[in-house]
Amino acid sequence: VARDPDCVFCKIIAGEIPAAGVAESDLAIAFMDIGPIAEGHTLVIPRDHYETVMDMPPEVVADVYGLAARVARAIKASMGCEGLNVLQNNGACAGQVVGHVHVHVIPRDSGDGIAWPWPSTEAEPDRLASLAERIKSGMNEA
Ligand code: 5GP
Ligand code: ZN
Repeated sequence: VARDPDCVFCKIIAGEIPAAGVAESDLAIAFMDIGPIAEGHTLVIPRDHYETVMDMPPEVVADVYGLAARVARAIKASMGCEGLNVLQNNGACAGQVVGHVHVHVIPRDSGDGIAWPWPSTEAEPDRLASLAERIKSGMNEA
């Protein structure tokens, strides 16, 4: 699990390709996204290669998200943005392009023109209750 020889983010960890580093923790590093959605867009990744958030042990999740929250505070303080998106894609269908789990930390301001396609619907309470039961049954193996 430690390293995937074909992974671009593993190469950044190893110093084999350059990145503009921002911060480090025991189990994670943060660096600037090369294709930013907004100025200041930063990525936080575990030092070890895991594909998705579901593959990380809890202590790695805690460290990665702990660093993401610190980076978010630092961006807000230094860039003066109003808010931020902290988000993470799992699987190609969900927009994941790089197969080494990464948390996006994206500065946001009102009127910045970034549109988040989030087509919400309305759900019946009965449907929500049955979906909750279905997911609960999956919690045993999770
Ligand atoms: P995803 O779509 O997988 O959630 O996001 C991948 C992100 O990684 C994109 O925002 C993209 O700009 C960024 N990225 C891809 N390759 C590199 C790279 O070599 N260096 C850096 N700094 N960012 C990268
Ligand atoms: Zn990797």
